Amino acid sequence: MKTVYCSIFGHNYVVSKKITFHVNEYKCTHCHLEMTTNSNGELTPLTPKFREINSVLERIHKRRKSRRMEGLLVFEH
Ligand SMILES: [Zn+2]
Repeated sequence: MKTVYCSIFGHNYVVSKKITFHVNEYKCTHCHLEMTTNSNGELTPLTPKFREINSVLERIHKRRKSRRMEGLLVFEH
Protein backbone atom coordinates (compact mmCIF):
# COMPACT_ATOMS: atom_id res chain seq x y z
CA MET A 1 0.00 0.00 0.00
CA LYS A 2 2.93 2.36 0.64
CA THR A 3 3.50 4.63 -2.35
CA VAL A 4 6.87 5.87 -3.52
CA TYR A 5 5.80 9.39 -2.55
CA CYS A 6 5.13 8.32 1.05
CA SER A 7 8.43 6.46 1.36
CA ILE A 8 10.28 9.61 0.28
CA PHE A 9 8.24 12.42 1.86
CA GLY A 10 6.41 10.53 4.59
CA HIS A 11 2.66 10.15 4.93
CA ASN A 12 0.37 13.14 4.62
CA TYR A 13 -2.34 12.48 7.20
CA VAL A 14 -5.62 14.36 7.25
CA VAL A 15 -8.37 13.90 9.83
CA SER A 16 -10.94 11.54 8.33
CA LYS A 17 -13.15 11.30 11.39
CA LYS A 18 -13.39 13.12 14.71
CA ILE A 19 -14.11 10.68 17.54
CA THR A 20 -13.69 12.81 20.69
CA PHE A 21 -11.85 16.04 21.55
CA HIS A 22 -8.64 14.03 21.87
CA VAL A 23 -9.10 11.13 19.47
CA ASN A 24 -9.25 11.40 15.69
CA GLU A 25 -8.94 8.99 12.82
CA TYR A 26 -6.49 9.98 10.11
CA LYS A 27 -6.01 8.95 6.51
CA CYS A 28 -2.97 9.46 4.31
CA THR A 29 -4.05 11.41 1.22
CA HIS A 30 -1.52 9.53 -0.94
CA CYS A 31 -1.72 5.86 0.03
CA HIS A 32 -4.94 5.92 2.13
CA LEU A 33 -3.20 4.34 5.12
CA GLU A 34 -5.44 4.82 8.16
CA MET A 35 -4.17 5.80 11.60
CA THR A 36 -5.79 6.77 14.88
CA THR A 37 -4.83 8.39 18.18
CA ASN A 38 -4.39 5.84 20.98
CA SER A 39 -4.91 6.38 24.71
CA ASN A 40 -1.37 7.78 25.02
CA GLY A 41 -2.08 10.41 22.37
CA GLU A 42 0.24 8.70 19.88
CA LEU A 43 -0.56 7.77 16.30
CA THR A 44 -1.11 4.08 15.78
CA PRO A 45 -2.37 2.05 12.79
CA LEU A 46 -6.17 1.87 12.66
CA THR A 47 -6.64 -1.86 13.19
CA PRO A 48 -10.13 -3.44 13.39
CA LYS A 49 -9.65 -3.46 17.18
CA PHE A 50 -9.05 0.31 17.30
CA ARG A 51 -11.95 0.89 14.91
CA GLU A 52 -14.16 -0.95 17.38
CA ILE A 53 -12.82 1.06 20.36
CA ASN A 54 -13.34 4.30 18.42
CA SER A 55 -16.94 3.50 17.52
CA VAL A 56 -17.68 2.89 21.22
CA LEU A 57 -15.86 6.11 22.19
CA GLU A 58 -17.76 8.02 19.53
CA ARG A 59 -21.11 6.75 20.79
CA ILE A 60 -20.27 7.69 24.41
CA HIS A 61 -18.94 11.09 23.34
CA LYS A 62 -22.05 11.92 21.28
CA ARG A 63 -24.34 10.89 24.13
CA ARG A 64 -22.39 13.07 26.59
CA LYS A 65 -22.50 16.01 24.19
CA SER A 66 -26.26 15.77 23.64
CA ARG A 67 -26.84 15.50 27.40
CA ARG A 68 -24.77 18.67 27.89
CA MET A 69 -26.90 20.43 25.24
CA GLU A 70 -30.07 19.42 27.06
CA GLY A 71 -28.55 20.77 30.27
CA LEU A 72 -27.87 24.10 28.58
CA LEU A 73 -31.41 24.35 27.27
CA VAL A 74 -32.79 23.68 30.74
CA PHE A 75 -30.42 26.30 32.16
CA GLU A 76 -31.35 28.96 29.60
CA HIS A 77 -35.08 28.64 30.03
ZN1 LIG B 1 0.95 7.46 2.82
